Amino acid sequence: MTRNDNSMKSDSNNHPSIEHLVEYSAGSMALSRAMCISAHVEHCSHCRNTIRNLNAIGSEQLRDIEPAGVSASLKDRVMGKIQRDAQSKADVVSLAGSGSDGESSEKRSFTMPSFVPRCITQFFDNDYDDMAWTRVSPSVRMTALCTDTNGAKVALVRIKPGGRMAHHSHIGEEVTVVLHGAFSDEDGMYQAGDFVFRDADHKHTPVATKDSECVCLITLDAPIQFTGLFTRWLNPLLRRNHPLPA
Ligand SMILES: [Zn+2]
Repeated sequence: MTRNDNSMKSDSNNHPSIEHLVEYSAGSMALSRAMCISAHVEHCSHCRNTIRNLNAIGSEQLRDIEPAGVSASLKDRVMGKIQRDAQSKADVVSLAGSGSDGESSEKRSFTMPSFVPRCITQFFDNDYDDMAWTRVSPSVRMTALCTDTNGAKVALVRIKPGGRMAHHSHIGEEVTVVLHGAFSDEDGMYQAGDFVFRDADHKHTPVATKDSECVCLITLDAPIQFTGLFTRWLNPLLRRNHPLPA
C-alpha cells in the first residue's frame, strides 16, 4: 500500500452519537456503518478515547459475569451464528477485495492520498485516480466500494471545488464522513473528519467549498431521492446506480 504523505489528523466538530459508539464498541454495528466510525476515529482523538473507555467497561462487565452452564444445543447455535456472521463479513470484504483477474488486491500496492482511511484501503482494486469513478453530474463523481450484508452501500464521492449536489431527500439513513476538503448545506459546514448522520426524510443541498475538491465516504441504506423540479429525472438513474452521494 502506498500513501502519498502523512498529513496531520485534526479533531473534527461533528461526531457519532454515544449510541453509535456503544454499538460500535459492542461489535453489534453493521460493517458498512462501522467503516464510517473507523474512518472518523482516525481523525478524532475524542471518539477514539470514548471507544477505548467503552471497550474497557465492556471488558470489566464480562469479567464480572458469573459463569452459567448452557446446554450443548444452545452452545452449538451460538457458535454457528458466530461462524455465519464471520463468513458474511468476509463475503463483504471479498466483494471488492479481488481484482478482475481473481488476484487478491491485498497483494498489490495501490497509490492513494493520505486522507483515504486505513479501514477502506482493502476495498481498492486500483490506484485512487484509476478507480472506476462514475460521473454523476458535472460536479460529482463516485465509486462504489462494497455492499453490506444488510444491503447498505458504501461509496467514495468527489465533489469539485464549489460543486453542488442537486437538492435531495433520503429514503433510508445516510452517514457521511468528510475525508478531504469541506462542504456545507442548510444545516452547517462540514470539514475533514466530520461525521454527519442523516435520517430518512432529511432534505439538503450539499455544496463543496471553493478552495478544494471535497471527498466523502458515504454509507446509504437506500437510494437518495432528488426533489428539485429539474432533477427528478435523475431518480430512475439513482435507483439503478445506488449508492449516490449526499
Ligand atoms: Zn469524534
